[in-house]
Amino acid sequence: MSILPIYVYDHAILKKKAVKIEHIDDSILQFIEDMKQTMHKAEGIGLAANQVGSPLALTVIDISPVEGYEQVKPLVMINPEITYYSDEETDYEEGCLSLPHLRELVLRPEAIQVQFYNEQIQPQTIEADGLLARVMQHEIDHLNGIYFTDRLSQLKRTLLQSKLRRISKGETTADYTIVLPDGSTIQSENDQ
Ligand code: ZN
Repeated sequence: MSILPIYVYDHAILKKKAVKIEHIDDSILQFIEDMKQTMHKAEGIGLAANQVGSPLALTVIDISPVEGYEQVKPLVMINPEITYYSDEETDYEEGCLSLPHLRELVLRPEAIQVQFYNEQIQPQTIEADGLLARVMQHEIDHLNGIYFTDRLSQLKRTLLQSKLRRISKGETTADYTIVLPDGSTIQSENDQ
């Protein structure tokens, strides 16, 4: 297993729509394990494949480190599609491994239904609400080339522009190895 470097704002792969997975082989299963390990090491609760440089429609989620969600099992979502959104929306402060140290309140539907394949290639339909629904929406947004900051008001986004620019220039202190838009990496000692 290996820890993968995390691509940050505004690398081109983070704006691309993910490619559906047609069949699962050992290399994809290995990649899923690497993604889980990378997410845990970086103390994230979700990770989309393009955040580690892959175009595949694949995300891993594990919200069990969050207080009150210890019993929620980790999820692998292959080719996920949201098939229902609740009318009720809620605000919650989100962060993102591709936007180190940036946290903002994001308004999203409180509940969703999502369809996907798990790593055993079984079709799944899950109804989720609260934090799980939020992380699922955040990760599926990544697979469509959308950052959580894209969901903020125009004013908020304007105010964040200089922070985003600093991230894209590598003027940030992530606790994990990052890949900048120009393809250069900034190594973290934590990943040694
Ligand atoms: Zn994210």
